[in-house]
Amino acid sequence: ASPGKKRYNIALLPGDGIGPEVISVAKIVLQKAGSLEGLEFDFQEMPVGGAALDLVGVPMPEQTFTAAKQSDAILLGAIGGYKWDKNEKHLRPEMALFYLRRDLKVFANLRPATVLPQLVDASTLKKEVAEGVDMMIVRELTGGIYFGEPRGIKINENGEEVGISTEIYAAHEVLNLDRIARVAFETARKRRGKLCSVDKANVLDASILWRKRVTALASEYPDVELSHMYVDNAAMQLIRDPKQFDTIVTNNIFGDILSDEASMITGSIGMLPSASLGESGPGLFEPIHGSAPDIAGQDKANPLATILSAAMLLKYGLGEEKAAKRIEDAVVDALNKGFRTGDIYSPGNKLVGCKEMGDEVLKSVESKV
Ligand code: ATP
Ligand code: MG
Repeated sequence: ASPGKKRYNIALLPGDGIGPEVISVAKIVLQKAGSLEGLEFDFQEMPVGGAALDLVGVPMPEQTFTAAKQSDAILLGAIGGYKWDKNEKHLRPEMALFYLRRDLKVFANLRPATVLPQLVDASTLKKEVAEGVDMMIVRELTGGIYFGEPRGIKINENGEEVGISTEIYAAHEVLNLDRIARVAFETARKRRGKLCSVDKANVLDASILWRKRVTALASEYPDVELSHMYVDNAAMQLIRDPKQFDTIVTNNIFGDILSDEASMITGSIGMLPSASLGESGPGLFEPIHGSAPDIAGQDKANPLATILSAAMLLKYGLGEEKAAKRIEDAVVDALNKGFRTGDIYSPGNKLVGCKEMGDEVLKSVESKV
């Protein structure tokens, strides 16, 4: 260990399909960007998902979980593949992700939707609408209607089947609204200082409390400009004029829907990172795409979503914003030089594979000392 360097433990979980390819590239970029800011990383690489099933017979081995839990941050590739599709439920690779999210208690899911100027044409929206879009959606991940009790299909007094779902959020307690609101205010603060809280407070009581708590906390963040929007209007505004948004905070179900909608504005699944944060303990950082078995092992995967997840790890996981900025700038630089993997390729650019794209980003990181 070199003196004067800040050290962090990073758990690397490559997983399946293209996971190992994108993780190995992102690791090198992360290491370089960190070292230029005086950071040193101890990487612990562990099997997860299908890879772990093949190796030790379970999707989330105890040792992998312990390494993840004891780390400062976790960078995950992707999980799943045809090979394990017929496994019974507890032996499906995807269960690893479920256990990990549950046990790390990551309640805040951050998903950016950014339209980089070089990739405007990939957007599903018209150029003038897509240009300059740069937003972050903060979704509550562990509460709301997906988990509230009572729930299930029951028989009512007329002997009829009824499906019941309940949305519950509490001001404090376990399904704490304040903690998701705080993550959102902090996120907005690290961005352009604008927060839009999305709810359905004209109809839903859980939304009324949501709006009340978010509003109450606003006084602690005088540098953040808070607004509110009903979810139906938000769904429309995302398509009509997405540039108006900086940071959006919303509940589990609305966030599920709006973040998928927003990802299509950017049009490129290979570019989108995500972060899942808990109250304490390590955050989980991963690309939003899956294991892409159709292109696995062919050096075709776009590693930028994972590289940008590493930037989120630095910024939101470790608070190392300078090192994060180095990575973000390097990605833009590599795109400016015309390097494109197949998924974002357009004529006139240079088609490269996963590894070469990684090398180009690495060069760009190194060139700005
Ligand atoms: P999951 O269920 O795990 O989300 P999926 O099968 O629904 O996975 P992906 O694995 O994300 O979806 O793949 C969807 C399509 O996008 C595939 O054709 C895949 O090749 C492509 N794709 C996904 N990620 C990338 C990437 N990083 N680079 C290039 N293409 C990708
Ligand atoms: Mg899928």
